[in-house]
Amino acid sequence: MVVTGACLVVLALAVVAFAPRVLTRAAWTIDRPLTAIAAWQAAVVVGVAGFVVGIALVVLAGRPLTDPFGIDASPSHGLNVGVAVLAVVAFAVAVRVRPGPEHEAVREAIRTGAAPHREVDGTLVAVLQADTALACAVPGRSGGVLVSTGLAEQLRTDELEAVVAHERAHLRQHHAAVVGFAESVERAVPWVPGARAMARSTRVLVEFAADDAAARRVGRDALRRAVLVADGTGALGAVRASRLS
Ligand SMILES: [Zn+2]
Repeated sequence: MVVTGACLVVLALAVVAFAPRVLTRAAWTIDRPLTAIAAWQAAVVVGVAGFVVGIALVVLAGRPLTDPFGIDASPSHGLNVGVAVLAVVAFAVAVRVRPGPEHEAVREAIRTGAAPHREVDGTLVAVLQADTALACAVPGRSGGVLVSTGLAEQLRTDELEAVVAHERAHLRQHHAAVVGFAESVERAVPWVPGARAMARSTRVLVEFAADDAAARRVGRDALRRAVLVADGTGALGAVRASRLS
């Protein structure tokens, strides 16, 4: 049991150390963003589960099944178990996905009618009076897609459809939860370099995934033109446009 436990801990540490290096350098992740996101999440699950189960196997080796923590022998063992359980609960609370304040602001704008909206294929699409070029997806029952007039006025009809299709893909594929999970892991263990890399990569990969879904719906050309209008000067916008050409 000790050997199995130690092997699991070593495996978990190896995954946490090497998976981020492999995933941030692999060229295929650009073309297969959903597979890359799944690989990042699998690395977290294997890392955390392997470490917890491995440590448990080492600690519990040779203990009687009726009282594996030796609480009968010393009450302080019970305290240690309690602290360990609290640590696991604290980690679970830290990685809980929370909606950002900007999402609340958009929901409020849609609810109060400050942003006129209509339904497109079951999704609420709201237009916000603002000079800034802006489009975003707001998850949840009272959420939808928000596009600013500053952006809509610069786009042709097919390009605007491409922007809406991209944002709808964010909603359908639950990208807010995917990014929220990665950012929560980063907040929970900020000293682990792989956690920072995962959050950074996930934010980019969901954009590629939404582009792929939108391109299947409206075509790559309209989406590429829309990306160049919405984010032509940004580094991510340039990469997204080149993926689509
Ligand atoms: Zn996006």
